[in-house]
Amino acid sequence: MKYLFAKSGYFLKVLKNKKIFLFLDYDGTLVSIKNTPFQAKVTNSTKKILKFLIQKSNIKICIISGREINDLKKMVGLKNIIYAGNHGLKIFYANKNMCLKKISSYYYMKLNEIKNKIKGKFKREKGIILEDKKEIFSLHYRLVDLKRQRIVIKKIKNLIKPYKKNLKLRYGKKVIEILPQIKINKGIAVKVILKKINNKKFFYPVYIGDDKTDEDAFKVLKTSGLTICVGKKRTNAEFFLNNVKEVIKFLKLLRDYYE
Ligand SMILES: [Mg+2]
Repeated sequence: MKYLFAKSGYFLKVLKNKKIFLFLDYDGTLVSIKNTPFQAKVTNSTKKILKFLIQKSNIKICIISGREINDLKKMVGLKNIIYAGNHGLKIFYANKNMCLKKISSYYYMKLNEIKNKIKGKFKREKGIILEDKKEIFSLHYRLVDLKRQRIVIKKIKNLIKPYKKNLKLRYGKKVIEILPQIKINKGIAVKVILKKINNKKFFYPVYIGDDKTDEDAFKVLKTSGLTICVGKKRTNAEFFLNNVKEVIKFLKLLRDYYE
């Protein structure tokens, strides 16, 4: 894994004369991770840069996140962007909503059962934030006492056991998600989006993300695009940037390059 800014101007050479399809994760990539998901807002200066980039005919932007799609749209608040919520299960493009997989009512029923169980079980647990994202139910434990975090995870694992056939767990940064046993991840979403919107392959994919859930997308794009992981760790991405600040710096460099 290489540091993207190690050789100055390297990636600009890679992007030279290319149109780009920029995939940006939200939390931990475009915005710093905050104590609660509601606090992680895009700064005005980041919005300005994105607005500039959207206008360019040689740039397309997709913001892809584990957040629920309407929440994501509200948090970013920009038009002419492609949004992919719930890890790409829901996609919003050209004023249309698309759902990548059909979720049967049976799944919703099972999800509802577990939601109620979790609500009951953690009623008195301090610091838990529950987030209902329709097809996914998230439990954020960042604010739970460090010593209790392991216990919380164990409790969830036990609760889900009888549901293993229909539901699965996904782990993110201080969050556990419960979702239907369907094959959906950011890698699949990226493939579908590129096929639908970039079928002539005019646009060169650039993907930036920070979490485990971004690894599927890194794998998909490893040989066909520029993949950048935020934070230095074991990853499938080719490059890394240290933090959100450097992601914004990268966006600024793109802005200046495409001006
Ligand atoms: Mg993230």
